[in-house]
Formats: sequence, C-alpha cells, structure tokens
Amino acid sequence: MHRRDFFKKVVFSFAGFAIGQSLQQTIAQQLQTNPTGTPHPLTNPKNPLDIEVPFVHNGPGFGRRVAITFDDGPVPITTEMVLKALESRKIPATFFMLGEHVKAYPSLAREVHSAGHEIGNHTFNHPQLSKLPDALVEQQIRVTQDLIVDATGTRPVWLRPPYGAFKRSQAHIAYKLKLGVALWNVDTRDWTKPGIRKILEIIEKETRPGSIILLHDIHKETAQNTGRILDFLLEKEYEFSTISGFIGNPYVHESVPS
Ligand SMILES: [Zn+2]
Repeated sequence: MHRRDFFKKVVFSFAGFAIGQSLQQTIAQQLQTNPTGTPHPLTNPKNPLDIEVPFVHNGPGFGRRVAITFDDGPVPITTEMVLKALESRKIPATFFMLGEHVKAYPSLAREVHSAGHEIGNHTFNHPQLSKLPDALVEQQIRVTQDLIVDATGTRPVWLRPPYGAFKRSQAHIAYKLKLGVALWNVDTRDWTKPGIRKILEIIEKETRPGSIILLHDIHKETAQNTGRILDFLLEKEYEFSTISGFIGNPYVHESVPS
C-alpha cells in the first residue's frame, strides 16, 4: 500500500470516529433534556459506532520500517536481556505488559519506559477476553492501565488482547479506555520454543515494510537470541519504530500528509 493510501485509510477511520463522537454528544444532550424518557436505542453500549475503534495488524508499507513487539513481561532476567540487546543497537520496541507482572516488578516496567520504549496493555493476567463478560474485560484492562501509570507515569494507548482474541462487539470497551487494538502480522511462535533458526526463517519469510513482529520477553530462548533477530533485520536494512511511532495515537486526528 502506498504512503498516501495508508494515511487515507487511517484518516478515513478517524473521520468516521468523529461522526461517532458527535452522535454520542447528541445522545447525551437528548438524555439531559429528557432524563426520564425512554433511552434512545443508540445508548446501548454495543452500538454500531464501535467499529470506529482502530484494530491494526501493520503499519504503513512505505519505507523500511517495522515494529518489534514483546508480550507478557516484564520479568527479571529475560526482559533485562531483551532491553540490553535493544539498547546496544539503539532500537526502540513496544512492550505489551501484563498487569500482574507490572505489579510484581514496577521498577522493571519503569526501566523499560525510561529506555525509550513504548508500553502497551496486555491485560492483567492473560485471559481470553473474547470469552469474558464486558465488566470483566473492562476490569482486566483498566486495572492494568492504572498499574502501568503508577509504575511508569505513562498511560498506554494501545491494547494487545492475549491470543489476539477480541471481538468487534467488545470494541466499545477499548474506546471507553481510549485504547486502539494493536495486533500483528508476523507471528514467530517463539513461545513454542522452535529454535532460533526457525524463528529467523519465519521472520525472513513474512516480514515486509510495515510489519508488526510478535515476540515474548518471558522466554529465555527469545531473550538469548534477541540480538541475533535484531541483527538479522538490520542486515536486511529494516528500520524500527514503536507502534505509536508507526501509526500514531489511535484517537488523535491527523491530516493526510501530501
Ligand atoms: Zn500474551
């Protein structure tokens, strides 16, 4: 996809979102003027405006940028090894953290943030959100947002649902918490411990400009080989970005660059 087309697509979804916002304001005004009236059907939280929440699998395909992402941390040793490999190569990454790990290791979460990486929300303890009722989904995400804010002073703008399991009908929860949904398009399956050769094979075969690469900083094999993975991508002349560096903030309007 060309640069302009990509931004048009993104801006188009923002334009739709803006319409959604104004409709919601109208509904709120209606309810204020007639607080005892029958609720308007659009006040149902599962309304059609949910589709305006961005679900992204990749960034723009122009240039050579990719986003490398690490899920399930932060944990001592392996996250620290990943941080060192990134730091020595001056490469930014995005860490989708579990609330329970941020709670246990807040200083490590802070270290990831201070090193210039982006932090995203990966729920509190890794449930399959698509199988949970809305109230529990919200709780999983909200508690994790608060833990990350307390530990790092930054509030994530991207949610990565565990297993990528998140329904469009749940998007209103992400919207309420001002989170976009960041998925991936290169799955290294590193959690199956396939060996570095297999991981590099998948990365070589599937990575394109704009790719979002999924790895896990809780696995020793991944942590030990992060340097090799990064060097491999550097050899292919890829450049690196965080998810927001790539795509921007999911709820900030941007004009189409010329
Ligand atoms: Zn995960």
